[in-house]
Amino acid sequence: MRINVIGGGPAGLYFALLMKRHDPSHEVTVYERNPPDATFGWGVVFSGRTLRNLREADPESHRRLTESFETWDNVDVVLRDSKVTVRGNDFSGVARLGLLNILQERCAELGVGLRFNTAVEDLDALAAGCDLLVGADGVGSFVRERYAEEFRPALERGRNRYIWYGTRRLFHGLTLTFRESGAGVFAAHSYKFSKELSTFIVECDEGTWTRAGLDRMADAEARGYLARVFERDLGGEELLSNNSRWINFLLVRNERWSRRNVVLLGDALHTAHFSIGSGTKLAIEDSIALFRHITAGTDVASALAEFERARRPVIEEYQQAAHESRVWFERAGEHFRLDPLPFAFSLMTRSRRVDYESLRRRDPSFVAAYEEAVARA
Ligand SMILES: Cc1cc2nc3c(=O)[nH]c(=O)nc-3n(C[C@H](O)[C@H](O)[C@H](O)COP(=O)(O)OP(=O)(O)OC[C@H]3O[C@@H](n4cnc5c(N)ncnc54)[C@H](O)[C@@H]3O)c2cc1C
Repeated sequence: MRINVIGGGPAGLYFALLMKRHDPSHEVTVYERNPPDATFGWGVVFSGRTLRNLREADPESHRRLTESFETWDNVDVVLRDSKVTVRGNDFSGVARLGLLNILQERCAELGVGLRFNTAVEDLDALAAGCDLLVGADGVGSFVRERYAEEFRPALERGRNRYIWYGTRRLFHGLTLTFRESGAGVFAAHSYKFSKELSTFIVECDEGTWTRAGLDRMADAEARGYLARVFERDLGGEELLSNNSRWINFLLVRNERWSRRNVVLLGDALHTAHFSIGSGTKLAIEDSIALFRHITAGTDVASALAEFERARRPVIEEYQQAAHESRVWFERAGEHFRLDPLPFAFSLMTRSRRVDYESLRRRDPSFVAAYEEAVARA
């Protein structure tokens, strides 16, 4: 088969390597507009279950990835002066750039054609010259927009502003910190993803953002302001920028997932709010699912229809959970007055994927402390 992939993010690279590994006679080319070591952001999170899927799909990239992983089982909820720890969670953090470099290496050694610094413009020509064209070109997908009449995308902006920073302060575990400044409530999502660095995402509502003057501040000034808001948490370390800018989350859905021999994958196809940390996981698991359908022995059109039929319910379930989680963070100011244990309980169960009983199984002592606090109130 001749396969063209637009976008060298996790979705595009992983699909390309699976196809080439399955059959070296496939001609697989990935077109990426950036150079190999350009990326946005810092680290990403995987759950234990995602790692098992990766091991099954390609043991070699799984082995290389897990060598550089930072793993933890605690979620720490920091509210005002108290910290509540919830154990029994199974997560790992890895640098986004490290992940991409491993997938690029793996693609190169398997013989995938990697065309960096190549922004695709003539999509029709590229689609006509191959059996399958994969639009894995991220949240602002050019492929999705070019064929919008057929994909019929629905886009929706989240209400909060957020920004993705790094810091040398090491957060052992997923740490969710809530601080109030004179302007309003700020939430930080942080976790270490290497021996030296942590991700530090800050979000707040629009009113807090403008009252704080963040809409008018240059990069260094904004980092200075937020470093003061999170002074007790950062332990004197500064916030680090990597083309960091304030954005609103963009929810992406598509009424149709493919047209003729063109299919969307990863963020181009769907997004899920970062507070459930599943964007990269979903992108890679899309690739595994598409790979299985394409190699099942049917023609491309049937494989794409079957991919959508099987995968859509999984994605819709995640998007629903991510929506609940996003709305919880958009209302963080309302939850902020709760006592620490009820606050942590509300936070842990926000997406409704984790209920009372599963939380009790994960961390019985946390649930017992919560029940005691509720009984006392
Ligand atoms: C603040 C924040 C925090 C996040 N945290 C997490 C997390 O903890 N865990 C997690 O799993 N995910 C997280 N994500 C989401 C994650 O980054 C994405 O979901 C994931 O990268 C999607 O992979 P992808 O391959 O679909 O797209 P991308 O990684 O966006 O890759 C798309 C690629 O296509 C290229 N491209 C675009 N247009 C063209 C063109 N015309 N021609 C050629 N190339 C093109 C781009 O340069 C890019 O390299 C987070 C995202 C944000 C914004």
